Amino acid sequence: MTLSNGRPYVAIPGPSVMPDRVLAAMQRPAPNIYRGAIVDLTHSILADLKRVAKCTAHVALYICNGHGAWEASLCNMASRGDRMLACANGHFGLGWADAARRMGIDVETLDFGRSAPIDTDRLSETLKADRDHEIKAVLVTHVDTASSVRNDIQAVRAAIDAAGHPALLAVDAIASLGCDPLHFDDWGIDVLVAASQKGLMTPPGLGFLWFSDKALEQSRSADLATPYWSWIPRIEARVFSHTFGGTSPTHHLFALREALDMIEEEGLEHIWARHRALAGAVWAAFDVWGQDGPISLNVADPAMRSRAVTAARIRNGGGEALRGWVETQAGVTLGIGLGMALADDPTHDDFFRVGHMGHVNAHMTLGVLATMEAGLQALQIPHGSGALDAAAGAIVRAIPEIGAPAPVSA
Ligand SMILES: *Cc1c(COP(=O)(O)O)cnc(C)c1O
Repeated sequence: MTLSNGRPYVAIPGPSVMPDRVLAAMQRPAPNIYRGAIVDLTHSILADLKRVAKCTAHVALYICNGHGAWEASLCNMASRGDRMLACANGHFGLGWADAARRMGIDVETLDFGRSAPIDTDRLSETLKADRDHEIKAVLVTHVDTASSVRNDIQAVRAAIDAAGHPALLAVDAIASLGCDPLHFDDWGIDVLVAASQKGLMTPPGLGFLWFSDKALEQSRSADLATPYWSWIPRIEARVFSHTFGGTSPTHHLFALREALDMIEEEGLEHIWARHRALAGAVWAAFDVWGQDGPISLNVADPAMRSRAVTAARIRNGGGEALRGWVETQAGVTLGIGLGMALADDPTHDDFFRVGHMGHVNAHMTLGVLATMEAGLQALQIPHGSGALDAAAGAIVRAIPEIGAPAPVSA
């Protein structure tokens, strides 16, 4: 017998849980793709995406996943042979750099390991050494979803400025947009990359690029940009179809419109606070579990942790064992470890992740933690006792901090 029948919960770091309202919004026939409602809907989405990223500059939409958005960002910033500097704290930072390399960009990677944020002194020194200012862009992952390290983007901006370097600051916010605070304008970001299926609660298949005037200027001479991936025709579209380089992703747009309405209704600041509170419950449980035995969080300093995903380890293959138990016995799917150890490394099966991004509330998070507690007991994995008390306490303490939902802004 298992207890997994009932509504399953996929608690992985994307695709995240899609709200029923978002799913229902797609239940309609295809619209006219040349004029009328879909055009207005798209323009409303562009305006709201700028609001979500706190950006007053440009935004372009693409039919693609995050990997596609990576390539779109790279080809608009560079010509073949140009130099870039990539900062990596895990699988995704390394992946963006690898995409750049395979596109013919000369990338230098500053690898900060898999548990620590960017060392901004090292970044600044590397930029200062580039006296001729050949480096065209600095690539930074806001939250590396594999390691759950969260970088301080303002500190990165300050390091670039301290070096007096003109490189663009390009940020991958695929796992943080709509979960962690993010301010395109105020943080001095030049290029921001995101996708639909994480904090934005929409099916995978849409990629987004926000970019500054400076990045737009640099893109005018970037010879890696191809007709489909260049952002220029998308923002200067004289015909609606140019916005998407062809047919628009009609039903993704219906879904995203609904998700953006939900974000507007809750209020972005409240959404950030909700993610912080739920992450706090997850961390509180892990702190207790880890008091006795093989369980540990990947990122020691809470200030450097994502509020959307938590990477953890249970030694002796416990991560995979727990993932298997909660999925088959209780209907909860946790995220796999990604890039933390090679497949033939004996520690490979230690690593796993808990997603808590997007359409997630207190009972879902507490349910996942209680299910994990049951799994630890069933598998006889040693752990400190009282984790669920601690998680509940974190929720209770967070509620007055969050306060009333922000009023719906006009
Ligand atoms: C999910 C993710 C990606 C990759 O997105 P795909 O849609 O799977 O291609 C890249 N970067 C970060 C930070 C992510 O979280």
